[in-house]
Amino acid sequence: MLNNLAQQPADALLALIKLYDADPRADKIDLGVGVYRTADGGTPVFACIKAAEQKLVDEQPTKAYLGPEGDMGFVHALMPHVFGGEDPSLGGRIDGMQTPGGTGAVRLAIAVAKRAGVTRVIMGTPSWPNHAQIMDDCGVELVSFPHAAADGSANLDALEAALKAAGPSDAVLLHGCCHNPTGIDYTPEQWDRIVDLLAETGVLPIVDLAYQGLGAGMDEDAYGARAVVARLPEALVAYSCDKNFGLYRDRVGALYVLTASADETVKALSNGHTLARASWSMPPDHGAAAVRLALADPDLTKMWLDELTSMRARINQVRQKLAASSNAGAVNLTPLGRQQGMFAMLPLSKEQIQALRDDHGIYMAGSGRINVAGLTMDNIDKFVGALAAVSG
Ligand code: PMP
Repeated sequence: MLNNLAQQPADALLALIKLYDADPRADKIDLGVGVYRTADGGTPVFACIKAAEQKLVDEQPTKAYLGPEGDMGFVHALMPHVFGGEDPSLGGRIDGMQTPGGTGAVRLAIAVAKRAGVTRVIMGTPSWPNHAQIMDDCGVELVSFPHAAADGSANLDALEAALKAAGPSDAVLLHGCCHNPTGIDYTPEQWDRIVDLLAETGVLPIVDLAYQGLGAGMDEDAYGARAVVARLPEALVAYSCDKNFGLYRDRVGALYVLTASADETVKALSNGHTLARASWSMPPDHGAAAVRLALADPDLTKMWLDELTSMRARINQVRQKLAASSNAGAVNLTPLGRQQGMFAMLPLSKEQIQALRDDHGIYMAGSGRINVAGLTMDNIDKFVGALAAVSG
């Protein structure tokens, strides 16, 4: 029976890590896998998380089972940061559940939407490749439109046309901030227009917020998610703490549901619970418990926000230097100065990407996506020079 299974391709980015590790060149540059890196190239555990984990070790009374909703203290502690305002739950219309990472949250959002009757999901492409895989696996159709306009900003006309052509069983998946892979985010004015369109068309929004705090700021990065929940009757928000708390392998995320009433939200979330029960039963506890403890302690919360601020400053410093180093004839890096978050797409051919790897020790995804945080003030000149060399 099992011999009927066809070999599936290995994850290209994970394969790239192995190639990078085996490369002996001292000045090699890893722009592949999507983790934040310090100027020294490390991805350290946040100091606020180390402190919270210590508290957890000292104080956690039990590791007995929780329910499929996970750690609701964590889910609620995060809500003021995500939704802001006096009452982040909007009178109980928003509530959530813990999920295994942002991936679990996106998966559950699509599965809950499908149960509610959604058959198609509109989404700008390119997108994080797992979005399309999850939709395919959940049996909903992907309706795509081009996310980027030619000038490196968001193609709002294409989104508008897709929303106006939508049917009654359509949802739309929107990146909350720090678009992966393009770095092209909506401006606040564009978000306002998008919310107008969602209100007009009734298309259900699914906001994927996986990088809050790594773009322009905690409030700025939540603008879209907050505009959606402030003005629309219903929405799903998939949240990841894996980047903005540096918890990648601990798998920390949450799915938030907004409906027209607190009672409807309880009912909708109960569907999330049964779906979770049938797949992972309950999410892993450790990382979410550490986030809960960090957010319960004002000193640790300040430490967290300061750590995020310095990460964001480094990413934006690299972006500004790249934009300023852009030279005519080679790849145009100017738009990277206006874009946000860890990722950018460079218009490079497969041959150029291969030559960057072979001749210059620069490793990036085959799509041309780079992790901006893989660069430092010291190696940007080498990178820009290599881009010019392969463009010549
Ligand atoms: N959404 C987007 C847009 C992402 O880029 C990622 C991570 N690459 C995720 C969701 C999921 O993040 P995780 O499962 O690691 O929390």
